[in-house]
Parts: sequence; structure tokens; C-alpha cells
Amino acid sequence: MDFALSEEAQAVFDMARDFGQAEIAPHAQAWERAGTIPKELWPKLAALGFGGLYVSEEKGGSGLSRLEATLVFEALAQACPSVSAFLSIHNMCAKMIELYGSDDLQARYLPAALSMEKFFSYCLTEPGSGSDAAALKTRAERTNEGYALTGSKAFISGGGYSDAYVVMCRTGGDGPKGISAVIVDDGAPGLSFGGLEDKMGWRSQPTRQVQFDACAVPAANLLGEEGQGFRYAMAGLDGGRLNIAACSLGAAEAALAATLSYMGERQAFGRSIDQFQALQFRLADMEIELEAARVMLRQAAWKLDTGAPDATKHCAMAKKFVTEAGSRIVDQCLQLHGGYGYLADYGIEKLVRDLRVHQILEGTNEIMRMIVARHMLAAR
Ligand SMILES: Cc1cc2nc3c(=O)[nH]c(=O)nc-3n(C[C@H](O)[C@H](O)[C@H](O)COP(=O)(O)OP(=O)(O)OC[C@H]3O[C@@H](n4cnc5c(N)ncnc54)[C@H](O)[C@@H]3O)c2cc1C
Repeated sequence: MDFALSEEAQAVFDMARDFGQAEIAPHAQAWERAGTIPKELWPKLAALGFGGLYVSEEKGGSGLSRLEATLVFEALAQACPSVSAFLSIHNMCAKMIELYGSDDLQARYLPAALSMEKFFSYCLTEPGSGSDAAALKTRAERTNEGYALTGSKAFISGGGYSDAYVVMCRTGGDGPKGISAVIVDDGAPGLSFGGLEDKMGWRSQPTRQVQFDACAVPAANLLGEEGQGFRYAMAGLDGGRLNIAACSLGAAEAALAATLSYMGERQAFGRSIDQFQALQFRLADMEIELEAARVMLRQAAWKLDTGAPDATKHCAMAKKFVTEAGSRIVDQCLQLHGGYGYLADYGIEKLVRDLRVHQILEGTNEIMRMIVARHMLAAR
């Protein structure tokens, strides 16, 4: 058993960390205040191969393993978890296009996805269905040219910002087998957006409802086969869960590093606060929890990469554990900064807000427990 990162994996991590510190961290707070991420950032990330992290090299992607991809999200989240998580959604869409798109669809969308001239959003959740995603109602009626979509999607990261949307919609009867996936271009007739959601965290990512009113989608924009859309949508989720956990991990690492240095400078009762044993114990507890989270995440990524039969269970366990550990750690880091932790200038309160949603999306942490328990019961 080898717990070390390969030289190549370490280089991927270092490249992402350096880019994040130079190009993202200095702007993270301004982007949060602006409520958007400048589109010019994406081609720079794409130049590093981050537009198609796990799209195969033969298709022009970076062909990274899921473990290596988590390192990218961890490293970028040290600069800003909101930006890092947004990139993860685009990457999930790019991989779906590679895996299930026809040659024509790939030729039309993959190059722009990889160069990030086009940013992609993933539209599964609806106002009436979140955890129970297979109950979605957005209807795709057959027309002479393709489909007319009617319905709405809720909480869409990049809604009204993205250039194209991977939309799960109902072409058949009830249940998962009646669901298909199509690509809808920004500007398609009948496509509109709700107002900007006023969120606790992830504020630099615009989140809106995406609405379809007989929205015209060409038949050639069907991803793969009709009736398979739910399977495609779920297939990306194991990896998506690892990525979101990696975003929590990276942010917690950054918060802990900032806290360590702050505690060496801040004086109370005639000495620096890092001299109080009660606080040293808190530091140790955070380090222990962070290490456990890191090992668990990387093991789950390794399981997914090696096709282990219990990979889904491990991805769910890692998502739950790491996102909760990450939130606990950034909250403790805020506490150790005293009143300054509560001020935006120190950057810690943003992390507390940004990380909270990681327990809710890519499957809530209750759903993660359901997955784990289901595997346990089945293996009994
Ligand atoms: C900021 C943000 C960005 C998002 N971005 C996207 C996006 O880009 N694309 C997209 O498709 N979606 C996105 N989502 C939606 C997200 O995936 C859903 O919010 C999530 O799946 C939960 O669904 P829900 O909000 O409808 O909660 P519900 O499913 O209504 O759940 C409510 C509560 O009940 C619990 N619960 C539900 N069912 C069970 C059960 N069987 N057993 C035990 N507990 C249960 C849940 O865990 C939760 O605590 C985003 C959400 C947010 C907040």
C-alpha cells in the first residue's frame, strides 16, 4: 500500500495551487461581492487542461484520474471553494458529452467545452424534486425538428451565465426510465431565467432558476439515447461527490494554515495565543480530522479509479465525512480568530458560508447515509 502521491499527481496539485493563489485568491472576495466570476478566467484554467480534466487525451482532454482531478479541486479551493466547485460542474458536463454524445454532438460542443469558451451548467433539480430527482417533471415533447421543453429547473449554478445547459427532461413515462438528457444553448427560443438567488455562500457563482416555455431543442442535441438520461446524470455523481469533498478539504486546509499563522501573531494575556494548551489541543484535533478526511477522500477516489465494486459507497462516505469535517474545521478556525474571524477581511467567514452548501448538494448528506446503509444491508 502506497499513500504517497505520484510525482505527476503532485505536479498537478502544485500547478493548480500556484494558479489559484496567483489568479483566484486575490479576487475571490471581489467576485463574491460582484456575484459573478469573470468569464476571462475560464480560458486561463483551460490552458492548464482544467476544462476537461477527465475527458480522454484522444478527445483533447487531460485524461486525469479521478484522484488527480480531486487534487485540482482541493488546490483551487485553497484559493476559493466557490470557483473550484463551479469548475467541477462544467467538468461533469464535459465528461457527459464525451461519454454519451454522438460524434456530431461531440464535434459541436466538446472543443468549446475543453477550451472553456463555452461554460456548461448541469440542470437536474426542479422546484418540486431535489433528492428525489427521478420525479422530475420538465417535459420534452417531440416536434418535427426535435423537442419542445416545458418546465423549470431550480438552483442551477450558472443559470443565466452559462453558454449551454445539460438538461435532464422527461421524454417518456414516470420514473427514471422516462428521462432523457439534452443540450440547450443559451439564447434558445423559449429559454429564460429566474432572478438571481440571494445565497448564504457560493455567492460568486450566479444561481438562478432555468425555465423552458416550449423551448426548441434540435433532435441532434439529444445526449446518447432517449430514456437513458437519468443513468447519465447519476453516472457523474460519484466523481462529483469526490470533487465537492475536495473543495471542502482545500478550503479547510487554507483556513487552518491561516489560523496557525494568526495564532502566532495574536497576543492575549502577555503571550501569543498559540501558547495556550487548550488552543493547541484544538489545533491538534483539527489536524487529525483533516488528515482523516484527506485519507478517506483519496481512498474513495482510488476506489472509483480502480472500479472497485464498493466505490459508490466509499464516495458517499467520503462526501459526508469530508464536507462535515471541513465545515467543523473552518468554523473552529473562525473561533480561533476571535472577532476578526467574523470580519470579511480575514477571509474565514466566507469559507464558513461557502462550505455549508457542500452538505446539501451533489446529494444531501442524508442521501449519502442512505447509500451507505443500503450497501450495508445488501451485503449482510
Ligand atoms: C447553491 C446551490 C447550487 C445548486 N446547484 C445545482 C445545479 O447546478 N444543478 C442541479 O441540478 N441542482 C443544483 N442544486 C440543487 C441541489 O442538488 C438540491 O438542493 C439537493 O439535491 C437537495 O434537494 P432539495 O433542495 O429539493 O431538498 P429535498 O430533497 O426537498 O430535501 C429536504 C430535506 O429532506 C431530506 N431528505 C429528502 N429525502 C430524504 C430521504 N429519503 N431520507 C432522509 N432524508 C431525506 C434531505 O436530505 C433534506 O435535508 C443546488 C443547490 C444549491 C443550494
